Amino acid sequence: MAEIDGVRQWLDRAAEFLRGQLQWFGGQIAPGAVTHVAIPAHPSRVDNTDPGRYRFEAVANLTWRDDPTAVHRAAHALRTTGWTVDMHRDPDFPTVVTVVGTKDGYRMQARTEEGYGGIVLLGETPDIVLYEDDPLPTPSPAVTPETLSPGALLCYECDGLGHCPVCKGRGWTKGGSTGRIRCRECLGSKVCPVCGGAGELHIADLTDEARVHYPDLG
Ligand SMILES: [Zn+2]
Ligand SMILES: [Zn+2]
Repeated sequence: MAEIDGVRQWLDRAAEFLRGQLQWFGGQIAPGAVTHVAIPAHPSRVDNTDPGRYRFEAVANLTWRDDPTAVHRAAHALRTTGWTVDMHRDPDFPTVVTVVGTKDGYRMQARTEEGYGGIVLLGETPDIVLYEDDPLPTPSPAVTPETLSPGALLCYECDGLGHCPVCKGRGWTKGGSTGRIRCRECLGSKVCPVCGGAGELHIADLTDEARVHYPDLG
């Protein structure tokens, strides 16, 4: 796959900008603490986009003390520098409070936990198309003729793929003002509506309508 001219360089600069922003963010939350930002050597693909978009994802672990004011400093620091801020408590882990800031496609997040001194900072550069031609990878089939369960046949709708044959497991098809519309076949569920994702149908469970698709069954 050929890279689009200049995009990788742009992403590398974006990663360095993000590193600086996270170091600043860490300093605002935990004054005097050193923020070591880790960024992988290569950008990662954002799932489920076509063409594929890429971004750098950064992480930093801050050593701090159990400090309930840290989240407020995080939110305040972002808000006063033009970031859009969202603060929420994890419904499954109510002691975990996350502050998320977004600005110009960048995203920074501080994750704190009551009763625990560590603070995790996460960052993302904007998503960008990196390669000339980068279609979604095709998911592997749920079953093949070799891996069928005893007494089962390949699903007549998806031929064993398990994912929706119309949207190819994306849940959306191209169209509409946003470029995407919810798949009319699977209603966005991504799985084959006939077999529910199994890729196979058990002969004993076939309805009369389904049997029509298997003339060899007699
Ligand atoms: Zn679909
Ligand atoms: Zn199916």
